[in-house]
Amino acid sequence: MRESCPDKETLLLYAEGELTGHEAEEVGSHVADCETCAETVSSLRAVAAVLRRAGLRSTGGPGVTSSRTDSGGLTGASRSARAAPG
Ligand SMILES: [Zn+2]
Repeated sequence: MRESCPDKETLLLYAEGELTGHEAEEVGSHVADCETCAETVSSLRAVAAVLRRAGLRSTGGPGVTSSRTDSGGLTGASRSARAAPG
């Protein structure tokens, strides 16, 4: 019997290299033994790489400032109401 799988959040941190020392060892040894988690980490890594590239593009762009908004003066209330899949 395997131990229970780590949380997806933990796997995400592991995939991004955010875990350190003991935690990284634990998750790493589990992933090495668990195909499901290995696949999860693999796909999370791919997603993280894409997100990082996208994030890098938004910094250093000419004329981009954080004070610029195109919404109609609403606060972020409508944003959390709906989660898009994918
Ligand atoms: Zn697992």
